[in-house]
This record gives sequence, structure tokens and C-alpha cells, in this order.
Amino acid sequence: MNIEKLVRKNILELKPYTSARQSHTDGILLDANENSLGSVAEDVNNLEFNRYPDPYQKLLRKKTGDYLGVPENNLFFGVGSDEVIDLLIRIFCEPGKDNVIVCEPTYGMYKVACDINNVKVINAPLNDGYDIDYNAIVSSVNENTKILFLCSPNNPTSNLLDKNIIRKLITDLNLIVVIDEAYIDFSGDEGFAKEALHTDNLVVTRTFSKAWGMAGLRCGFCVAPEKIISLLFKVKMPYNINKLTAMAVAKAIDNSVTKDEYVKEIIEQRELLYNELKRNKKIINVLPSDANFISFKVENPREVYNYLEENGIIIRDRSNQYNFQGYLRVTVGAPEENRLFLQKLNEIL
Ligand SMILES: *Cc1c(COP(=O)(O)O)cnc(C)c1O
Repeated sequence: MNIEKLVRKNILELKPYTSARQSHTDGILLDANENSLGSVAEDVNNLEFNRYPDPYQKLLRKKTGDYLGVPENNLFFGVGSDEVIDLLIRIFCEPGKDNVIVCEPTYGMYKVACDINNVKVINAPLNDGYDIDYNAIVSSVNENTKILFLCSPNNPTSNLLDKNIIRKLITDLNLIVVIDEAYIDFSGDEGFAKEALHTDNLVVTRTFSKAWGMAGLRCGFCVAPEKIISLLFKVKMPYNINKLTAMAVAKAIDNSVTKDEYVKEIIEQRELLYNELKRNKKIINVLPSDANFISFKVENPREVYNYLEENGIIIRDRSNQYNFQGYLRVTVGAPEENRLFLQKLNEIL
């Protein structure tokens, strides 16, 4: 597929900003108006805070590439995967003209990022089993459709989407397919990262915010064909990933066994929570989860939410989302948190 045809003309023609640290990282550096005397910030790891970080993200690309078994050239890092989502919209979608397809109920950031960029959003709803509806998507596409956002496992419905239907959409549609795999670690599925290496129009986003427990560092990334990676590098802010984040993420990858242990424990807790919720006859439905949260349906979501809140337990009221009436979403917490949540929930129900 000819990706260039999907890219905005001004982005194709864009002459990117060339930053000082692109050309030189050592020597007598008098090229970037940094403070050569040092940094006021405490720098226990000798990261040289007075110097701008690496615009090529080399450390992260190498570490993550080795870990996932994908080439560095197929990786791009953003300030959270939310940044990657925003950049993709800005690369492909002409404001006021192009559109994007989402399958609701799903993650709200796709629509917000589109709204900010004045890009129209078309909803091709998930079916009643909250899986993707091939025909709904295909019939929503028009000549100005540039991106299809899929989220698998999907937030807030917590299920993996049908992989064969996704593959069929990738081949049948002349647009960019983005699969948001923020929760893939909890699913037992390997996801689409490897397939993105040799599929022109596929982008897979991942994040260090969930299973890795690094939401506060703001680091997400995508696996994509090199042409799309080049476009992302062309439009990103030159120094989007800071040195502290890069160091912490690189060290975390060396310690990925800890991530695996967290995932194992969260899955155990998830099954426990699921079974307990299932036992409560006042709960209308509990959705099986491939993620680190569970959505469940009640008669009176606001009342339940408020009671939990009064007791210091904060969950998410998702009952106003499209085709998700009555649903509340609870993150799988630490054992004691889950126990207290269940106790208070059983009091109000
Ligand atoms: C939490 C979440 C993300 C993570 O975003 P970051 O910006 O990487 O923290 C992405 N997609 C979905 C569906 C999420 O729920």
C-alpha cells in the first residue's frame, strides 16, 4: 500500500527542525545554548541534565527492540502512548476534512485527540458481544477516512478483539489501522507487534504505564513499518523523551521479571475479583477480563459509585458511555484494596 497517499501534503513536504544534539553529543558543545557550567538540579546518576537528551531515542529503541525482538528502526517513543495517538492524527488527518473511525464503547482519548485537531470521528460500534463488527466498520469508511483506531484488549469492555477480523480489515481497507495494546500484558496474547514489521498500514501502540507500573514517567511507544516511524520522527518535538525517563525505562527492562511477577499477581487477583462479583446477585453482568480492570453492570451505578467514594474507594463510572449503560469499571488493585472494595460494594448492593 502507498502510505504517502494517506499522509497530509504539508507533512510530506515538511522540512523538519534540525536539533543540535542530532549531529553531536560530545566534544566542546557550544551549539545548543545549554549551561556548560552544570545543572542546578541534583543529578545522582550523572545524566548531564544540562545537556539536551538524545532526539533519536537510541537507548530506548535498542533496549525495547531487544526485549520484544523487533528491530530498533521499527520503534518510536512518545510521552505516553497518548502522544503517539496525537501524532498519528496530525500526520494523516487534514483538519476539517479527513475523518477517523473508532469502535465505541472504547478509550476516550482517540476522540479527544481528534476533537483537538478538528478531525471528525465516526463511530462504528462494537457488536453486542463487544467485539468488532466488520460490516459496521467497512460501511463507515469513506474517501476521507484515514485511520481506524482499535483497542485490544479494549477499554472499558476489557476483551481482546477478534484477531482474524482485524487482519481482514488491515488487508481490505486502504487506511492506517492503529491497534492500541496498552493492556496486552494481561491478556496472555502476544498481540500484533511482530505483524506491524511487515504490514505497511499497521501501527501497534504499547505503554509502560500499566503492567510495568510507570504511569508517572510518561513513556509509551509504537511498533510500525519504517516509513511510518520516519514520519513520527519528522513531526515529534525534538526532545520529547527526557533523560530520567529513558534511564528508568531502560533499567526496568533489565528487570522485566518483576513486571512478569506483577502481571501474574494482578491476573490472580482479577480472577478472584471476577468470581466474587459474579456471586453477587444484584450485579446484572460482569464482563470477563483480558486486562487489569473489570467492568460490571448494576441497576444504580451513580449510587454505587457515590457510596464507594464516601468510603474512600474510587472507581470509574463508565455508565454514560455509548452502549455501556449501567457499567462501572474497577481497576484490579492490591489484595487488601480489592477486599475492601468488595466489602463496601456488598454493603451497598
Ligand atoms: C491507559 C491507556 C493508555 C496509556 O496511555 P499512556 O499515555 O501511555 O499512559 C493507552 N490506551 C489505553 C486504551 C489506555 O487505557
